[in-house]
Amino acid sequence: MIQLHDKYFKRFLSEVEVQAAVKSVAKQVAADYKHETPIFVGVLNGAFMFVSDFLKYYQHPCEVSFVKLGSYQGLTSTGIVETLLDLPENIEGRSVIILEDIIDTGRTLKELIHLLSNTNVKEFKIASLFYKAEVYNGEYAIDYFGLKIPDEFIVGYGLDYMELGRNLREVYQLNQKHMINLVLFGKPGAGKGTQAEFLKDNYNLKHISTGDVFRRNMAQNTELGKLAKSYIDRGDLVPDEVTIKMLRDEVEKNPEASGFIFDGFPRTAAQAEALDELLESKDMKINATIALEARDEVLIQRLLERGKISGRTDDQDEEKIRNRFEEYNQKTAPLKEYYEAQNKFHSVNGIGAIDEITMRLAKVIEEL
Ligand code: AMP
Repeated sequence: MIQLHDKYFKRFLSEVEVQAAVKSVAKQVAADYKHETPIFVGVLNGAFMFVSDFLKYYQHPCEVSFVKLGSYQGLTSTGIVETLLDLPENIEGRSVIILEDIIDTGRTLKELIHLLSNTNVKEFKIASLFYKAEVYNGEYAIDYFGLKIPDEFIVGYGLDYMELGRNLREVYQLNQKHMINLVLFGKPGAGKGTQAEFLKDNYNLKHISTGDVFRRNMAQNTELGKLAKSYIDRGDLVPDEVTIKMLRDEVEKNPEASGFIFDGFPRTAAQAEALDELLESKDMKINATIALEARDEVLIQRLLERGKISGRTDDQDEEKIRNRFEEYNQKTAPLKEYYEAQNKFHSVNGIGAIDEITMRLAKVIEEL
């Protein structure tokens, strides 16, 4: 397992497997071109390693040059392709073989084919080390490739994630399992939202507060908002089926997140089970449940203060607050045992300065 910037990657191909694929491309090309002198054109930056090793296996007369186009940014292709370094000038009447590290959607390839079509080459061919056949949607049939690979984001051996990883001898793929998914647990006013703001920046996580999603929907007067309003106004829980569906939608809106902070979810046994099922279906899991603990009297004072600023009606009325505590004691507190049974329950003192509490939470997370 390696980390590049904020993401974790697991080994996908060993150095030996990579070299075997390179050798295979060289052998295929040699079979067709050993009796002439082709010009190999490597596509920068990703193909530099491939070109270098390819040439060591290709022991026949040849020339080499490079071309550079821009298109990738981060994990997904932007679709913007521009020529940064042009084709060599001496290609008229020659056989040109483009050497690519990877062919995925084929957007860069399309641009290369366009560039070559405007020249007087004898012929051109495409040779790629890796080929994502499932996502390639170009018309041009790839002439030579080393290995077909699934549609996973890969790095190493010339390929990068935000410029890191090019110097690796092996190839790695994005590891979804190394996400951190946290449940923040605690009564209303315990500081879940405040702490989530810090954690999400520190660990690059997506914060999902079910209370916030409901309030957003209420402000926009959506169907979901109208439905939730009566429950929220009384300090009751919104029915499980509504909340579970909403949570699932929020998770699915963020397929590239490196982890989630679930704040205010789960609040019932059914929600906890639904969350485990949802995550499991996506090859994810909860890493830790962290409970922020504080006495009711402290919480009531905090909520009443918050209610004055935020205008939240459920924070302004002590009776509603007590009802929310009651809901918590009856339905949410028993989840402690659910997570304890999985060895995932951690308790943190929620009283003190905000940054002191953040430190306590960070300590739990660092030890995971
Ligand atoms: P919160 O902002 O987390 O205190 O949530 C405010 C209100 O939204 C709660 O009192 C509930 O009425 C509703 N709510 C938030 N999360 C849930 C949940 N997981 N299940 C049911 N109701 C929820």
